[in-house]
Order: sequence, then structure tokens, then C-alpha cells
Amino acid sequence: MKQIDWDNLGFDINPAEKMFVARHTKGVWDSGGIVDYGTIQLFPSAVILNYGQGLFEGMKAYRTKDNRIAMFQPHANARRLNDGCRRLCMPELDEDFFVESIKALVRENRDYVPPYGKGDLYIRPILFGSGQMLGVSPATEYMFIIFMSPVGPYFKGGFSGIHLQICTDYHRASLLGTGGVKAVGNYAASLMPKALARDEGFDEVLYLDARCSTYVEEVGSANFFLIKNGILSTPRLGGSILPGTTREEVLMLAEHSFKLIPQGRDIRYDELFTAEELFCTGTAAVITPILSVTHEGKPHTIGNGKPGALTRKLYDELKGIQLGERPDIFNWLTYID
Ligand SMILES: *Cc1c(COP(=O)(O)O)cnc(C)c1O
Repeated sequence: MKQIDWDNLGFDINPAEKMFVARHTKGVWDSGGIVDYGTIQLFPSAVILNYGQGLFEGMKAYRTKDNRIAMFQPHANARRLNDGCRRLCMPELDEDFFVESIKALVRENRDYVPPYGKGDLYIRPILFGSGQMLGVSPATEYMFIIFMSPVGPYFKGGFSGIHLQICTDYHRASLLGTGGVKAVGNYAASLMPKALARDEGFDEVLYLDARCSTYVEEVGSANFFLIKNGILSTPRLGGSILPGTTREEVLMLAEHSFKLIPQGRDIRYDELFTAEELFCTGTAAVITPILSVTHEGKPHTIGNGKPGALTRKLYDELKGIQLGERPDIFNWLTYID
């Protein structure tokens, strides 16, 4: 195995040695297998390359305080992948097959799980139409691949916080479109708005709803949260918002451990300017504080411009459970031993 600098991990591809590959041909999934990480072959007429029939998932394996390896609610990702398969006319995977394949691959790549406190092993399952087609129709063959990479924080600086620009020129997803699943095309469409915001010095964009550009949707590829007067609000799921597993966990923790009232609702963008705390969530982003939001050139500092106290507590609680430092009150951990 190659040397990894555990102290300087970013969110970059640093592929673990092995990957998992399964194929769907003649209407059935084979049992798949673990092979060396490397290139795959596709015909130029593969449906994924022409029409974007593909999905991904994002998960992590954590090195816990007692030096075990754990995952967080992998069945939730299996269910979400299958929701996406139905939306994109792709064959679903058996939930247990999905979870067991990941566990087997993590065991195989165990040397790539960073030491406790240094980072996590990011897990990237992808499922796509590999078969050939000329007209726009579902592929007749599919591939399911899992690869992994040790990672550090998604945003440079981790918990130190980010600065957002409200995106007024582009939308991420429409109500009856594919925003509610991790369809690969959604992310291609987000590259340009993000690049423009980066050029202006922002970390990410905050998207508004496609119907009236008034309500907050998501932060790039993380879910959005607002705290004010003891209420924790997040945009309600309505088809355009990706149902994040971290979003669900934060809603549960907030109510259970911090007596915050959780609310999924429509959040007007101008509510943000008077919020006490803002943050975003995701497997990669964990809980990242939002320090400022800029709208039409006007910056609005959130709170005192530093990570909020409740945001910190939620982060410590979630990370604490993931790393086996705090009681796993909801039974979210699955150990891989
Ligand atoms: C993956 C993703 C999230 C976060 O989902 P988690 O399950 O919490 O990792 C949020 N928004 C978008 C658009 C995403 O793609």
C-alpha cells in the first residue's frame, strides 16, 4: 500500500487499493466481486455517457475511539439509491447486498481507514447504465461499482465555517425533476454556478426554489438549517431537495438532545439575515457553520460571524456518536469487524 499523509488529508481522490464491481445483464444482477482499483471499459454508446443514466451515493467508514471501524446507517443509503433507481429506470439492488458489499470492501481496504481523529474513509457507490443505446431509452445492462478514498474535511478548515452567495441566476432542481435523488446530471449542472461563486471569493452557493426564487433549497450538495428562537428549521422535502441522511440525524438529535423544535418548512431567503445560526449538513460536510450570506452583492453576517454555540453542540454530538465517543442513542452505528 502506498504511503498516506494522514495529517494532511483533504477531500481528494486517493483511491484505496480495491473496488467492488457487479453487473446487471439479461435482467439480473450477478453477485459481483472485489478487484484492484483501476479503469473500466465502456462503449462510446453506453447510456451513462450519452444520456446520464446514473446515480451515486456518499457514505463513510469511521475509525472509532476504541480503534474499531464503523459505518452510519448504511441501509438509509441503500433505500435512497433504490429511490433513484426507480426515478431513472434502473434496476434496484437488494438492500442487504448493497450493505454487505460495502462492508466486505471496507474490510478489504481497512488499511485505508484513517487513524482515529485524522479523517474517514469516504465510500462512493455508483450505479449506471453501461449498455449501448442510440435512442433515448433505458440501458439493458448496468454496472454497480464501489470505490473508496481516505478523506479529511470537505470544506477547507472544517468546522471554521463558510461564506455563501445566494444564487439568483441559476436553480439546482425543479419540483418534479430529479433533485430528490443523487442523479449524476444534477451535479454537472451545479459546476458553473459554483465556479462563478468561487471566482467571487465564496465557498459555495445557496440555491433558491425554481418556482419563485424566494425559498431556500440547498447549499451546493449539503442540506440547509436555520436556528432562531429555539426552532431548528430546514427546507421541507418536496421533490427538489435531496433527503440527506445527515439532515434526518440532525433533526432527531436537535429534538432529543437539545430540546430544539425541528421544523421542515418553506424558508424565505430574507429570514436568513436575522437568523441566530445557520449551518449545512452532509456526509462529506458533516455540520458546517455558515458565517455569512451575500445576496445581490450585499453581505449579511450571521450572528457574530463565528460558528454558533448550538451548531457546535450538534456537531460535537454527531461526530461524538460517529467516533464512538458518545452514546449511540439511536443505534446508528454498524461495526465492521
Ligand atoms: C448527498 C447530498 C446531500 C447530503 O446527503 P447526506 O446523506 O447527508 O450525505 C445534500 N444535498 C445534496 C444535493 C446531496 O447530493
